Amino acid sequence: MADTTSSVFFVEQIAYQASLGFAQACDEADPLAPFQQQFHFPEVAGKPVIYFCGNSLGLQPKAAEAALQQELDTWRQMAVGGYFGGPNPWLHYHQTCVPALCPLLGALPQELVVMNALTVNLHFMMLSFYKPQGKRFKIMMEAGAFPSDMYAIETQVRHHGLAPELAIVEITPRPGQKLLHMDDILQAIENEGDALALCMFSGMNYYTGQLYDMAAITRAAHAVGAMAGFDLAHVVGNVPVHLHQWNADFAVWCSYKYLNGGPGAVGGAFVHQRHAQNVELPRLGGWWGNAEETRFKMEKGFVPKPDASGWCQSTTQVFNTVCLKAALTMIDSAGIDNMRKKSMALTGYLEFLLQQLPQLDFEIITPADANARGAQLSLYFRTQGRAIHQKMTENGIVVDYREPGVIRVAPAPLYCSFQDVYRFYEILKSF
Ligand SMILES: *Cc1c(COP(=O)(O)O)cnc(C)c1O
Repeated sequence: MADTTSSVFFVEQIAYQASLGFAQACDEADPLAPFQQQFHFPEVAGKPVIYFCGNSLGLQPKAAEAALQQELDTWRQMAVGGYFGGPNPWLHYHQTCVPALCPLLGALPQELVVMNALTVNLHFMMLSFYKPQGKRFKIMMEAGAFPSDMYAIETQVRHHGLAPELAIVEITPRPGQKLLHMDDILQAIENEGDALALCMFSGMNYYTGQLYDMAAITRAAHAVGAMAGFDLAHVVGNVPVHLHQWNADFAVWCSYKYLNGGPGAVGGAFVHQRHAQNVELPRLGGWWGNAEETRFKMEKGFVPKPDASGWCQSTTQVFNTVCLKAALTMIDSAGIDNMRKKSMALTGYLEFLLQQLPQLDFEIITPADANARGAQLSLYFRTQGRAIHQKMTENGIVVDYREPGVIRVAPAPLYCSFQDVYRFYEILKSF
């Protein structure tokens, strides 16, 4: 892990200043600053961009290329022998990512599996954990969830022959507001009571950047006899969570956002130990989830592995995993707690600078409480959103724009600096 002990950088309260000199001093004191050198940046007019889009697709780690080449070499030199020989035998390749994922998710190794992609995993998990029976048939989710989650939940409900309008309970913000109140979620869970089969929230809403209290949702769901699952697409590698301790039933994520695993990288799933050990739990099986002792006997009778990998279906996707493995090595050496500390300081600085711009007609949608958000701030510009996005692009700053006028800015702590954030502010100031 990066040595942060001797640094004055991670102090509790930073007295921010809106000056380039202050931003430079922060960067000089930042123990994670050297990690920026370990990524490739796209260039605009011969200059590397400032990249605030890691919530959509993380940058390429420089180590990815050599790692990829190594597996190409193994394939070329050993062919089928690569499953058992080679520097990283492919038979267990997916497991090589697990140790570095444990601290990000607060999970035991046997609770994690690296496989498929997010939406696929969401379906597989719901097949095991959404089992509508009689009166207990509802799924609760946040309104305005990511579309893939909406479609997955809608089609699961239909798969069971149920009507989405009756089975899906959406929690909406209060009138005139954009964020959810935790109290409203917990109250709704209590109100649904024994009609509720599953609470399926994203850990963090992709649009608003609101981080939900997953421990509280899990407790409330369990109190009424429901399951609690989370989509951690915007959480993993951004905000450390404690899924085991919180008793979450399951979780899924993708690896191409804050994990920098590359486009379409292999996703992952968490199954709490108490379920993972239960080989009686219904699931759809495949040979890679079968006990290794009998996998290659090619006999009838699926015997699930007594851990999260008992949900695996297919042969490890080596080339879909290799860049993730390289990225996780880097994240592991930085340390997720150090990343979170820097991230809070960096996003806090962005927020501070934005507060120095009262002349601009905008609001920060994302919660002001640093514990209720991650790296991302979502800015709603009532009038000039499109023009601002255009000017950012021209100046080599990559941010995400969504109608109507929302710019999402995500300074990822491994490759964004205080000076990057200051540059964003400088351009906004010119409006
Ligand atoms: C990015 C994201 C997805 C993407 O799902 P894929 O199956 O990887 O395409 C799904 N849900 C949420 C909440 C996301 O942020």
